[in-house]
Amino acid sequence: MPRWENVKGDPEKEDAYRTYNREKQRKYRSSDPDKAREQHRRDHERLMADPVRLEKKRANARAKQRRYRAKNARKVQSQKLKSAYGITLEDYEALLAEQEEVCAICKQPETATRRGKVLKLAVDHCAQSGEVRGLLCMNCNQGIGKFKHDASLLVAAVSYLGAAL
Ligand SMILES: [Zn+2]
Repeated sequence: MPRWENVKGDPEKEDAYRTYNREKQRKYRSSDPDKAREQHRRDHERLMADPVRLEKKRANARAKQRRYRAKNARKVQSQKLKSAYGITLEDYEALLAEQEEVCAICKQPETATRRGKVLKLAVDHCAQSGEVRGLLCMNCNQGIGKFKHDASLLVAAVSYLGAAL
């Protein structure tokens, strides 16, 4: 098998090399688990004692994660939606189109920003059933949150406002 320096830069060869290496390591681990564990522990200790190498490794991992996220932006977004609300990005987009891209309560597009970018409408879901109710702007989402998603409190607030008007 070629050395890493010889395959570096060629994505196809890099992949083949990684597959080969993974298999080799798997075999090594299963042939002598205790030795492999001990070796791993020693490697880890050496890494932890070397701040320069550790930081380099962490920076590499961060860069790799950034590249992955940039390349798989839709997939990452979809996975987040799936784990948080049980919907896919396609479901989100369908809901957004259905709501004509505005908040389900105030009927306005989102204006809140983070790091200079306008946020996407938030997914509002029932805490009990987990069912997605709709997409809300940050203000409305926080608003009903402050009223504990309690319709009777909101009705009381409406009645209070009505009395004061
Ligand atoms: Zn709103």
